[in-house]
Amino acid sequence: MSSSPRLILVLGDQLDLKSAAFEDFDPKTDIVWMAEVSDESTKVWTSKPRIAVFIAAMRHFRDALKARGWKLDYQEMGVHSSLAAALKSSCKKWKPTSLVMVHAGEWSVQQEIEAAAVEVNLPLDVREDLHFFCTRGDFANHVDGRKQLRMEFFYREMRQKTGVLMAEGKPIGGQWNFDHDNRGSFGKNGPGLRVLPRRFLPDFVTREVIEMVKDRFKEHPGSLDDFDWPVTADEAREALHDFIQHRLSDFGQYQDAMWTNEPWLYHSRLSAAMNLKLLDPREVVVAAEKAYHAGIAPLASVEGFIRQILGWREYVRGVYWLHMPDYVERNAMQAHEPLPPFYWSGETDMNCLRDALAQTLRYGYAHHIQRLMVTGLFALLYGVDPRKVHEWYLAVYVDAVEWVELPNTLGMSQYADGGVMASKPYVASGKYIQRMSNSCAGCRFDPAQSTGPKACPFTTLYWDYLLQHEPALKKNQRMSMQLKNLARLDDSQRKAIQNQAKTVRETYSQSA
Ligand SMILES: Cc1cc2nc3c(=O)[nH]c(=O)nc-3n(C[C@H](O)[C@H](O)[C@H](O)COP(=O)(O)OP(=O)(O)OC[C@H]3O[C@@H](n4cnc5c(N)ncnc54)[C@H](O)[C@@H]3O)c2cc1C
Ligand code: SF4
Repeated sequence: MSSSPRLILVLGDQLDLKSAAFEDFDPKTDIVWMAEVSDESTKVWTSKPRIAVFIAAMRHFRDALKARGWKLDYQEMGVHSSLAAALKSSCKKWKPTSLVMVHAGEWSVQQEIEAAAVEVNLPLDVREDLHFFCTRGDFANHVDGRKQLRMEFFYREMRQKTGVLMAEGKPIGGQWNFDHDNRGSFGKNGPGLRVLPRRFLPDFVTREVIEMVKDRFKEHPGSLDDFDWPVTADEAREALHDFIQHRLSDFGQYQDAMWTNEPWLYHSRLSAAMNLKLLDPREVVVAAEKAYHAGIAPLASVEGFIRQILGWREYVRGVYWLHMPDYVERNAMQAHEPLPPFYWSGETDMNCLRDALAQTLRYGYAHHIQRLMVTGLFALLYGVDPRKVHEWYLAVYVDAVEWVELPNTLGMSQYADGGVMASKPYVASGKYIQRMSNSCAGCRFDPAQSTGPKACPFTTLYWDYLLQHEPALKKNQRMSMQLKNLARLDDSQRKAIQNQAKTVRETYSQSA
């Protein structure tokens, strides 16, 4: 081997053998560099399942590279606390001629590595992340000349560009979007019998990681008792096929529905595998499209599922890079409350939140509507500082990586970007949760009541939110129905709601 290799940097969410970082990899001279660093788990108070998913996947990837006979500099947890420190020490050791990487998924990580490269006086070759359908440059072109961004128009462009679910230049089925077919809830008997998702029980490598996380991060939230996430490319592919065979057909109809003690329902559980780059989104989209043509799943489900990946996932990444680094500072609704402590324990008397938080802490997972219309909605109505909400979401979910988490949390869920991600705040009373789940049936609160001892805190805070923000919301045409209903409340009703909202905030700022 030459005495001056290149270091090929692979971050924890870049576990892709087809990565552009390896394009011109020379096994005779180059060294793959990977590092487990505690800062990534402590700068936000990361949950045990999230730490374990990342580290287990990294170690399996390391082993896959070793099996190729590639030279590695892999630093296990405990050696260095930051990426910069780990990288600088490796540069001292190997004296590389240059550093190669694919652009990081988090703005501050990219900054940290660029600064370290300057410090060690080495050229850093930063390459495009080819995992995505849409490059950052393509997104900038899409944005160019538009007054307002909307996912739907971006998605249509992506369908045209890729030819996915298209025939002779037109969307298959004659329409772009089948959302109106995709709003179902379960009847009172619930979701019924289904094939449960394929589980991936921890092998030796993952068990070692679990023990390390339990020991080193014991104070962190969450549990590892049920850990069964795919942590290799092969497992991720199996998870995809399991979803296509057993759950895709009902994905669309029930994508917004919730049910107590049923965390997975008809969801794919593929986000972590895709975000770590174990799974190529093209493979996911092709598999779903094939399922439609093979008659395994109806068009409404397949289109709904593909829209999440080809549309939303690409779109939020575009928004993130377009608006960082200022985006994280935004607070359009001037929300400044601290996050209620029960978000970290799951101990609350509100059934819907207790369900969503319990499964979040147990598995590191909640599906989209639980994140948006339960945990997110409560934080929005309560008036939590969006930065605190962002840090919580980044900490607790196994799929959390800033490029996707931040626009979803700060933008879509908290409306803190003032309308970049969503055309109006996603606000609703407890009645929405009652319609979409069974949580309210056994709850001590009543979603129809906004004041009094049985008033649902969501419903109280919903009216209080409209009252607080009425002048600003009046400018938004899409809020007119909700504001029309608000106008029906007389002064005494308004006062009673405001008093009750104050009590709700006082109660939940302390404990359950
Ligand atoms: C407040 C909030 C925070 C979120 N944080 C994250 C996050 O940190 N990481 C993350 O991957 N997703 C995040 N999402 C989006 C979505 O909730 C998750 O992708 C989804 O719940 C993951 O579960 P699944 O794989 O079973 O998804 P499915 O319901 O099966 O959906 C299929 C795939 O579509 C993609 N997808 C769906 N919705 C979105 C979306 N809104 N944005 C981007 N991709 C989407 C995901 O890759 C997902 O795997 C967040 C949503 C909200 C409202
Ligand atoms: S009544 Fe309110 S707090 Fe209770 S489960 Fe329903 S929405 Fe949640």
